[in-house]
Amino acid sequence: MVDIKNLNIEELKDFVKELGFEPYRAKQIAQWLYKKRIKSFDEMTNLSKKARELLSRKARIDILKTVKVEESSDGTRKYLFELPDGNRIESVFIPEKDWNTLCVSTQVGCPAGCKFCLTAKDGFTRNLTAAEIVDQYIHVQRDVGENRRISNVVFMGMGEPLLNFDNVKKAVEIMTHRDMLDLSTRKVTVSTVGVVPGIDRMAKEMNKVKLAVSLHATTDEQREKIVPMNRRWPIGEIMKALRRYPADNNRRIMIEYVMLKGVNDSLEDARRLVKLIKGIPVKVNLIPFNPYPGAPFSPTPREDIEKFQKVLWDHNIAAFIRDSRGQDISAACGMLRTKEKKSA
Ligand code: SF4
Repeated sequence: MVDIKNLNIEELKDFVKELGFEPYRAKQIAQWLYKKRIKSFDEMTNLSKKARELLSRKARIDILKTVKVEESSDGTRKYLFELPDGNRIESVFIPEKDWNTLCVSTQVGCPAGCKFCLTAKDGFTRNLTAAEIVDQYIHVQRDVGENRRISNVVFMGMGEPLLNFDNVKKAVEIMTHRDMLDLSTRKVTVSTVGVVPGIDRMAKEMNKVKLAVSLHATTDEQREKIVPMNRRWPIGEIMKALRRYPADNNRRIMIEYVMLKGVNDSLEDARRLVKLIKGIPVKVNLIPFNPYPGAPFSPTPREDIEKFQKVLWDHNIAAFIRDSRGQDISAACGMLRTKEKKSA
């Protein structure tokens, strides 16, 4: 059985050919799947009954099951989905005034092991397929309704996207192809904790979408304590990869920096950060830490985040404080999954 959302447009054309259909059927099928977001082949009314039956025997459409949805007073909706093998993942819908963003997961659990991250606590189970990534978009878009179109996708949910490169790349192809989900490449962001070979591959194979790098610290000693993967790819190696990355002022690299009280939030850190990123076209997102029960860190007070930001501004670095959304629901990544496991 083929998961039909695992196929990019070229693969869908090949699949259609194997079934003995005319080539133009691939575009028709893609439109049913990604524009009309139908749930069964029976709804593809411009295909003959025989063709629909053949498709139903050879392929399947929906693979995720919604287990739970939490909605915050700010409109943020957090989804817990179950995969066919019983594993669970999260996605988050974040409405803004002029656009809507979806944060998708790319792995079940995560091998990166960041110390401030709840998802990391359960370790790593497996990579998601492209279909399982794309299906998060389809399910959430159906749920929030077509008048709240998801225009932006960030690969920042559970998992390290660049350790699942092939499937992430395929999901991006499906999301950005005009006959499929047709999102603008500029509105898709792939985030990494600093997987250097993945950044280099992204530079060659996926550089139309935005790159975000979770730096979170300014010295190797400090970073190793919160991002264990730093032992494999230390800060110096990551910075070299960013210097060779094809970025410019119109396509800047996002530097993500979670603010942990007393750990990485001093003004000296801010000055070191300035030195590290000097000459690279970047935007810095300062992220207030979302504490969860038993978290080993606490959030930096707002006024200290603002002082940190000012140091960056004083050096003409675009720096933003990312608003924490969904504070009255399970805000931290992995929190809904953990909560549901405990209550199961
Ligand atoms: S913060 Fe991201 S990369 Fe780090 S462990 Fe959590 S999910 Fe993985």
